[in-house]
Amino acid sequence: MKIQNYINGQYVNPIQDNWLDNLCPANGKVYGQIPNSSKDDVEIAYNAAKTAFPSWSQTTLETRSRILIKISELLETNILRFAEAESKDNGKPISLAKSVDIPRAASNFRFFGNAITQFASESHESVGQNAINYTLRQPIGVVGCISPWNLPLYLFTWKIAPAIAAGNCVVAKPSEVTPMTAFLLGEICNEAGLPKGVLNIVHGLGTTTGQAIVEHPDIKAISFTGGTETGAHIARVAAPMFKKLSLELGGKNPNIIFEDCDYDDMLETTVRSSFANQGQICLCGSRIFVEVSIYEKFKTDFVAKVKQLKVGHPSEENTNMGALVSKPHLEKVMKYIEIAKLDNGTILCGGNKVIVKGYENGYYLEPTVIEIQTNECRVNQEEVFGPVVTIMPFKTEDEVLQMANSVNYGLSATLWSNNLKRTMRMSNQLQVGIVWVNTWMMRDLRTPFGGVKASGVGREGGFEALRFFTEAKNVCIKY
Ligand code: NDP
Repeated sequence: MKIQNYINGQYVNPIQDNWLDNLCPANGKVYGQIPNSSKDDVEIAYNAAKTAFPSWSQTTLETRSRILIKISELLETNILRFAEAESKDNGKPISLAKSVDIPRAASNFRFFGNAITQFASESHESVGQNAINYTLRQPIGVVGCISPWNLPLYLFTWKIAPAIAAGNCVVAKPSEVTPMTAFLLGEICNEAGLPKGVLNIVHGLGTTTGQAIVEHPDIKAISFTGGTETGAHIARVAAPMFKKLSLELGGKNPNIIFEDCDYDDMLETTVRSSFANQGQICLCGSRIFVEVSIYEKFKTDFVAKVKQLKVGHPSEENTNMGALVSKPHLEKVMKYIEIAKLDNGTILCGGNKVIVKGYENGYYLEPTVIEIQTNECRVNQEEVFGPVVTIMPFKTEDEVLQMANSVNYGLSATLWSNNLKRTMRMSNQLQVGIVWVNTWMMRDLRTPFGGVKASGVGREGGFEALRFFTEAKNVCIKY
């Protein structure tokens, strides 16, 4: 099957007719081709977006809202088709794609379809000077959206929906590793009546197609989610061109467990926050710190539960963990297990590849729990982004806070405790953008989302995203 670019409302081949293989992580086989788009394809997409902008930016909010909500409804109607495509392309369990990825992609369009009708700007009366200021929030023009492979349609639409809701036109690139649902999205946009050129999807490598979007002198803003190194590179390219930048990058998130937590709830959620989506979520709590008084009990119970997780073919409904996204990624994750051993880590469970019968070349790995000796070891400092977590005990709040804040990253943290004062005190002091207390990954799309330190710059979500995708212009009138 050949995936095509979606430009100006039409599916088209890359102009140089170059293609890349698309692999299925569940069996390691090539199952299609995707465009290896060049700078020229990006230019055509940019021109389509530029042509569409004058009209789209003047479309009433009601019309924009109606179209976005229609896209959302069509995604819901087609949930099975999209979930199957996502699962096949990414290796994630079909149950997860059906319950999280595709419903969330639909919610992204519905949410921003509604949010744009509530988005308001400010006015300031200059008292005593006979003047009033009002602020316009104008769309930027043509913007670029670049997303990663772990939550393909979920993160792709998390950028596109606010961008077009705010009146911009978009040139977007999904990860070349997981292009399928972005490809299908074009059909839905046409059916929902999105005018041609408002959204343009160009497939290809990050280093060529992605780079061409970032380098384009007239693409005025870049919203990027991906690895920290790529984010730093994009910032270096975009900053001298004075582009607006939103960077959602890596994480190395602490999961801090105190003795006074609701134990069963904590245990169940910690299995999920460790291994959901094969641990390939930037928010996964990959560093588990447990108060020493319950450490041994936690260790026994946690490992027992993790051993029950079923690693299997993503299309089977009872699979808890599917395949990792690609062979190089599997190799990277396995390398970290070896590094942990060299740093005196003890593998409490997992650590090996899983051979799934009939799919021997798939990229399966056991959920892995490593007991570490020191917070400074590499597996506790660097992002692994796979089904690997570390555990270690702590004695005091100060000690665990210091360890939690000791990494370069600062995306999210989870706290398990029923001591309200402590959770509020620690929430203030944790160097992260998101804190969950007695829960994990509970999302309200109105809230600001993003990280500090090497986890990124800027916030997505709610009106923050609409602010990013608009320019504020103040008008001062003297009367
Ligand atoms: P990458 O940084 O490798 O890629 C992300 C996207 O950027 C892909 O579409 C990629 O294309 C593209 N890209 C790569 N190089 C360039 C370039 N020079 N110019 C423009 N675009 C480029 O990340 P992964 O896809 O490997 O995703 C995993 C990372 O994403 C992890 O570090 C994870 O923590 C982070 N992430 C962060 C989240 C957050 O909200 N903070 C959420 C989810 C993931 P291609 O893949 O085709 O090469």
